[in-house]
Amino acid sequence: MIIEVTNIPNPEITCSNCQACCCRLQVIIISETGVPEKYIEESDWGGDVMQRLDDGWCVALDRETKMCTIYENRPWVCREFEMASYECEVERSENGL
Ligand code: SF4
Ligand code: SF4
Repeated sequence: MIIEVTNIPNPEITCSNCQACCCRLQVIIISETGVPEKYIEESDWGGDVMQRLDDGWCVALDRETKMCTIYENRPWVCREFEMASYECEVERSENGL
């Protein structure tokens, strides 16, 4: 029997060759994971979101290392965003990667 395997992640896509593209998206806080209050703001539509600074990236991103400084407490949305997923590839390509 031949089993066709699909959706194999592209091995060339890793967070280590990315500039944290997905950390420029609006991150909605939909559950309590321990994100510090100082990093949360109310969006223009009234929901809680991660603050972004003028450079576009999430306030919790370390600008030097491009690592999340609140990794253990990062929002649920961040936990669900999969490396090498379709959404990941879209973000990378929109940022020229
Ligand atoms: S998940 Fe994708 S978009 Fe986000 S940092 Fe990793 S490679 Fe970049
Ligand atoms: S909380 Fe962390 S993983 Fe989520 S967008 Fe901000 S820096 Fe990225």
